[in-house]
Amino acid sequence: MKKKLIVANWKLNGNIEMISNYLKFLKNNLLSNLNKNIIVIAPPNIYLERTYQSIKKINIFLGAQNVDVNLKGAFTGEVSVLMLKDIGVKYVIIGHSERRILHNETDNFVAKKFHLIKNSNLIPILCIGETEKEKKNGKTQKVIEKQLNCIFQILGEKAFRNAVIAYEPIWAIGTGVSADPEYVQIIHKFIRNYIQKNDSVSKNVIIQYGGSVSSLNTKEFIQQEDIDGLLIGSASLHAKEFLKIIKISCSID
Ligand code: PEP
Repeated sequence: MKKKLIVANWKLNGNIEMISNYLKFLKNNLLSNLNKNIIVIAPPNIYLERTYQSIKKINIFLGAQNVDVNLKGAFTGEVSVLMLKDIGVKYVIIGHSERRILHNETDNFVAKKFHLIKNSNLIPILCIGETEKEKKNGKTQKVIEKQLNCIFQILGEKAFRNAVIAYEPIWAIGTGVSADPEYVQIIHKFIRNYIQKNDSVSKNVIIQYGGSVSSLNTKEFIQQEDIDGLLIGSASLHAKEFLKIIKISCSID
């Protein structure tokens, strides 16, 4: 049974009532044996602590959707990795395409966050992936190399030990049209080989897929040899649907 990481990214969604019902449902229905599956929920920052209080006694970990590049000081409106750690966060999503596109976050900027997260002994979930145009022009691998190289440049060859990569082709996010699982397998293999060239231990890095995953396509993705988990947006907003995805993943060796 391979280790799989299933992450719910709620983005800018949810309220106290929704979260309370959602977590109650999961608490009552989550499998007692997750078969090496690790489950993470990443709510909006303002609900992190509330979520942590509900999940800390069950087998679910807390994730954040972003973090600042500074640890403390005069940075109004920001949240640091030390604060996230302080309230129970274990995983931090960085480099999501929505942040790269809507907040102009560059590879270099994302690499600085990756560094801070690793230094604080939290686990970065680094989102990478190509646009539709880049895919059409046959540039997917070049884009991914560039995104990974930035991390290697700052952290050196062991950069990806105890880190997670989420391959999220931008054209598949929130579109309802997921990538082809066999295509994703090829890209994941490429990512693993590329990392292995720098560090043979890091070849065991968890590589998730994200982009319009639902309970209808979970099985096809998880069955692929190099897909070690899923990063799920829209479908993770519904507790029943998220539980279905977890159950499918737990049933696959
Ligand atoms: C995401 O935003 O990381 C994502 C994968 O979204 P969705 O599942 O809605 O495509």
